[in-house]
Amino acid sequence: MIKNLSDVITLSADKFGDKTALIYNQQSFTYREINRLSNRLASALKKNSVGPGDKVTLYGENSWQWLVSYYGILKTGAVVNPVNVMLTPSEVEFVVQDCEAKVIIASQSKGTPLVGIQQKTGVETLILYGKDIPEGAESFDHFLDLGSDEFSSVEVDINSLSTICYTSGTTGNPKGAMLSHRSVITNFLMTAQMHGRSENDTVVSALPCPHVYGNIAFNSTFYKGGTLVMHSLFDVEEVFTSINRYQATMFEGVPTMYLYMLDHPNLSSVDFSHMRICTVGGQTMPTSKMEAVEEAIACPLIELWGMTEIGGLGSTFAHDGEYKHGSIGVALPYTGAKIVDVDNAEVEMTRGDVGELMISGPLVMQGYYGNPEATKEAVTADGWLHTGDLAKMDADNCIFVVDRKKDLIITAGFNIYPAELERVIANHPDVAMVAVGPIADEAKGELAKAYIVAKQNTSPDVDQIISYCREHLAAYKVPREIQFVDDLPKTSSGKVMRRKLHTLDK
Ligand code: ATP
Ligand code: MG
Repeated sequence: MIKNLSDVITLSADKFGDKTALIYNQQSFTYREINRLSNRLASALKKNSVGPGDKVTLYGENSWQWLVSYYGILKTGAVVNPVNVMLTPSEVEFVVQDCEAKVIIASQSKGTPLVGIQQKTGVETLILYGKDIPEGAESFDHFLDLGSDEFSSVEVDINSLSTICYTSGTTGNPKGAMLSHRSVITNFLMTAQMHGRSENDTVVSALPCPHVYGNIAFNSTFYKGGTLVMHSLFDVEEVFTSINRYQATMFEGVPTMYLYMLDHPNLSSVDFSHMRICTVGGQTMPTSKMEAVEEAIACPLIELWGMTEIGGLGSTFAHDGEYKHGSIGVALPYTGAKIVDVDNAEVEMTRGDVGELMISGPLVMQGYYGNPEATKEAVTADGWLHTGDLAKMDADNCIFVVDRKKDLIITAGFNIYPAELERVIANHPDVAMVAVGPIADEAKGELAKAYIVAKQNTSPDVDQIISYCREHLAAYKVPREIQFVDDLPKTSSGKVMRRKLHTLDK
């Protein structure tokens, strides 16, 4: 029985021993090896008096050291604080101080400002992995030498904190969601079951490890004894190479990753014949694009919906059941989902009507760290989490996300859902990617503006897009402005940041 989240790797090392757990930069690691290295890190941390209740910040790009640290920290009973690699040094300083980190483990690329941060805050030890370690920091390799290959994970209460996980910051400043061991364990057990994962899976992923989608991708793969081919950055050609080289059975990504793949000239040379399923989530993906992807990969593209505040997924479809494009699936087992009135969470909506999606059950976070007000706004007294997502549910309990509550554009009193406009515009044959954001208007309050990345070798013009929108959208929804751009602003996990769209304005 799993009690400490790190038992995933301990149990899999017993069961799958010399099987390849991880391939990173063409370097392979067996289950035994990952477990041995995380034991070394855990025992070295313990010698440095790290134990239950302590917080350890983990800050860096995807790497084997990141994964070894993650399990090593958990083995000591300490809490992992995975930090988004895109945060600026001052944001990291805030996070480190906010969660009262005792130790920071980071990649050397993040190192120099961290030495200053360590001096200013109460952090006792700064450990960096990579080459050329700056003065004031310890090298990860030397630190591992302090430990030993054997370590018994500290038994923890399953309801105690495992992780303080900061949200993506798509809509505002990141907040630290407090997740118990139970929350994350339940999440990857259910996800592994829904997606039919097994030791025969080879999963290619470029999702960042600190992000909940990336976290569930590696934990559910390791739990089942599969092989994870991990990339540190999303690069279409490198992902294509990995799919071919390792005969991938799964790829997991956010919509933009698939859109880059679809628009790449090498797509037809990729061997998708071993693919079992692919998963997509993190943001709405237009159904027309999902269909185009499915045609290319010749296997199901399964949508999932997740959120930092629930430690990973909240809904998806079973790999072997029916699925509906455009829907984020059904709530995971043991997870409650309901749609309530946006202004009054006590009132449930009639089936089929749009309201706010609420989630309950063991997945739900214990609150935002050090932020009781934000916690009270997010979680009701009886444990229902406000997701901030507008959604509806059909007769089969399939959930459809309409948009984020915060992203609604109100034009002369009418609601415009950016996601609806994005779906329509994405259907235009020359559009590779599109995002819609608000622009201020004196008379109407707000208007919609579309930012479009055109497909390679096409040159659509503004009038064409506007008349396409007029054909498919009510007049008040037609974007008032269209701007063609080379790319869209994205988070480290590849999600489009609508709140940064205005930085593209000309
Ligand atoms: P922040 O809360 O800091 O603004 P964020 O909400 O993007 O950032 P995450 O916890 O990574 O941070 O993302 C959760 C959100 O992502 C959900 O609330 C939802 O809006 C969106 N999302 C996730 N999966 C899907 C999906 N399949 N379809 C539509 N939206 C999705
Ligand atoms: Mg959020």
